[in-house]
Amino acid sequence: MGKVWDVVVVGAGPAGLCAGISAAQEGARALVLEKNKDPGGKLPFSGGGRGNLTHAGEIQELCRHYHGGDGPSAACRFLRPALYAFSNADLMNFFARRGLPLVVEPDGRVFPRTNRAKDALHVLLGEAEKLGVQIHAEARVVHLDKTPSGFSVREAGRRKSTVKGLCVVIATGGLAHPQLGAADDGYRLAERLGHSIVPCRPALVPVIVNASAFAPFRDCAGVTIKDTSVILERSGMVLWKKRGDVLFTHRGLSGPAVLDISREVEPGDVLRIVLVPGLKELVSAEKRILREISLKARRTIPNILHDLGVSRSLARALVKAQGIDPETLAANLTRESRRSLLESLVLGHPFPVESVAGWEEAMVTRGGVALSQVNPKTMESRVVQGLFFAGEVLDVDGESGGYNLQAAFSTGFLAGRSAALKALGLA
Ligand SMILES: Cc1cc2nc3c(=O)[nH]c(=O)nc-3n(C[C@H](O)[C@H](O)[C@H](O)COP(=O)(O)OP(=O)(O)OC[C@H]3O[C@@H](n4cnc5c(N)ncnc54)[C@H](O)[C@@H]3O)c2cc1C
Repeated sequence: MGKVWDVVVVGAGPAGLCAGISAAQEGARALVLEKNKDPGGKLPFSGGGRGNLTHAGEIQELCRHYHGGDGPSAACRFLRPALYAFSNADLMNFFARRGLPLVVEPDGRVFPRTNRAKDALHVLLGEAEKLGVQIHAEARVVHLDKTPSGFSVREAGRRKSTVKGLCVVIATGGLAHPQLGAADDGYRLAERLGHSIVPCRPALVPVIVNASAFAPFRDCAGVTIKDTSVILERSGMVLWKKRGDVLFTHRGLSGPAVLDISREVEPGDVLRIVLVPGLKELVSAEKRILREISLKARRTIPNILHDLGVSRSLARALVKAQGIDPETLAANLTRESRRSLLESLVLGHPFPVESVAGWEEAMVTRGGVALSQVNPKTMESRVVQGLFFAGEVLDVDGESGGYNLQAAFSTGFLAGRSAALKALGLA
């Protein structure tokens, strides 16, 4: 009979590596199986290669930036024990003690001082090696069976073998970025063992705007509006509001505020973007614009908007979108055009949504293993004893700003530790 591992982890992303490390810290013999040639999952590609590893702040505040489960605060309730078990402060200490200090940026996002996500991965791999965690690469798990004494885990790929484990952690990530190898294996493994999967859709994903409505804004690709308001409307009702930066793309809208709201966006919705965040309310904005117009009657409308802080390309686009000739002089602007222009600037310009972009452009997955079937205090399945879940495979998605990696590290840590204690008979 072959070796029986205490803990077998499926997936060597941040959640799986953290699970392997915390299991080994408890004294368990841990094996991590990874289907790709290199371990690390999405970690080395995160934050544009800089690795926005977490977000600073109190756990109660951190918690409010997660979604999923049934109801508005379900994700927060579910994640809280994991976030306390391995907090953002613990994460910063973990890396700092191993020679990689992290830096908190003014907006609260936290990066390695070296600005290289790969350095964080090297720390995790170094720690795993030091603790004797075995990592098998090119080992894709295709089958997971419960046996009387634990689990039998079948690998495809180079090894084509079956390993045995007393406990198993599924940390296979989500569906975002299939070009990096993301696939639905984890959901299928969980489903076969009786778990429900909340339907998945792309989240933290750019929004594609109806082509004809977006035509005037095509030249604005690359323009950012800082710290503005994004309002999501459906059938004339306001569903969500979000503050943050907005970025124009070739086909629509992106940037943190749009990405954060994208998990809710459906075709046919309208995204209103306040194009001049400084102009707080309509009456004072109108007064200000009227003053500009009377002082600068011989200037064109785009030039006047530029004087108010709107980028040149956006000012031209907005004027065109209102059906106003961009060469129109301020003195010749009709009262009606002035009013509709003002509404776009102050209340938000309406961008009708075509769709959200696909999995290739998404950063995370909305949906996954149902939270009601996982014990938040241990990450153990309520359906199959000895089976644990960690990371993005769960029905939790965080906002942009380091929340998703923190969730992967925290749930990975808790799942690995709980699995080890169970396997060693200490739980
Ligand atoms: C481009 C990009 C940038 C991002 N930037 C940030 C950021 O800066 N900050 C942030 O907080 N979040 C960021 N995210 C999100 C974050 O990277 C993920 O939420 C996080 O990596 C999830 O960790 P995980 O370990 O659960 O999954 P993953 O990182 O996806 O790792 C899962 C691992 O499991 C392996 N696997 C899958 N199936 C099997 C199988 N059958 N057998 C064996 N192995 C398997 C995969 O190959 C992979 O290595 C970003 C995501 C993307 C796509």
